[in-house]
Amino acid sequence: MMTDLQGRRAVITGGGTGIGMACAKRLSEMGVETFLMGRNLERLQEAANSIEGATAIQCDVTDDSSVSQAFEQAAQDGPIDILVNNAGIAGASAFHKTSMEDWRHIQAVNVEGLVRCTQAVARDMSKSDYARIVNIASIAGIRGGAYITPYVASKHAVVGLTKSLSLEYAYSNMTVNAVCPGYVQTAIVDNAIANIMEKTGRSREDAIVELTKNSPQGKMIQVEEIAEVVAWLCSPLSRSVSGQSITVSGGAI
Ligand code: NAD
Repeated sequence: MMTDLQGRRAVITGGGTGIGMACAKRLSEMGVETFLMGRNLERLQEAANSIEGATAIQCDVTDDSSVSQAFEQAAQDGPIDILVNNAGIAGASAFHKTSMEDWRHIQAVNVEGLVRCTQAVARDMSKSDYARIVNIASIAGIRGGAYITPYVASKHAVVGLTKSLSLEYAYSNMTVNAVCPGYVQTAIVDNAIANIMEKTGRSREDAIVELTKNSPQGKMIQVEEIAEVVAWLCSPLSRSVSGQSITVSGGAI
């Protein structure tokens, strides 16, 4: 099926799992050639095998040379039109028990990693006739959250970066937007559930209730719902939408 995105080329960081993999699948259905970047090449290759037109490329977003090599490889046969900055990590602890090492690690992946990957493409994309950047932030980038301060700070930074980059590149054909999910059924949430169970002694069911009570709709979001919004932000008719942080959070505002 021909679509408006046929033949476009997209990099998705953290593309071998969860939201990233769902984005790659959805973009591939729209005719996009996808490059899945992440640290674990075997897992990425497995994901790439299940997605038409997908290529696995090893990349640690916290490492300068890894990022430059990976993006060079992705751009080998043509320019990158779309970047989905999805790689991210979370963690929960009381603020006064959060070590500076943990703090820095979350910022290194969620903020600096995103900056590094965006810098790898921004110059070329800003000269192109078609360019889209979508940052996967979080509802934690819009409002606060107890016991997840480094994550909240990192995602607020992503929302701020999104606004500033959209202004800085407004002269070009590149849009920069963020998607801010609530709790989505992925490995990150599985870890959060395990963490609540371990630290509070609650059952799995109670831990899930604790998380979903942040959502007015009271349910976990599915990865395909996030991918659909990302796909729209990558499409031609979203060209006048830039600098936005779109929440997909079951009504949480
Ligand atoms: P996930 O753990 O499946 O995905 C995160 C991906 O990032 C993984 O593939 C992981 O390998 C990759 N990654 C982590 N560190 C990396 C590094 N240094 N270099 C390269 N890749 C790295 O979980 P997910 O829920 O799909 O998370 C994707 C994004 O969505 C994250 O940015 C996360 O913060 C955000 N998000 C998730 C939720 C949720 O409830 N699941 C909610 C809001 C936002």
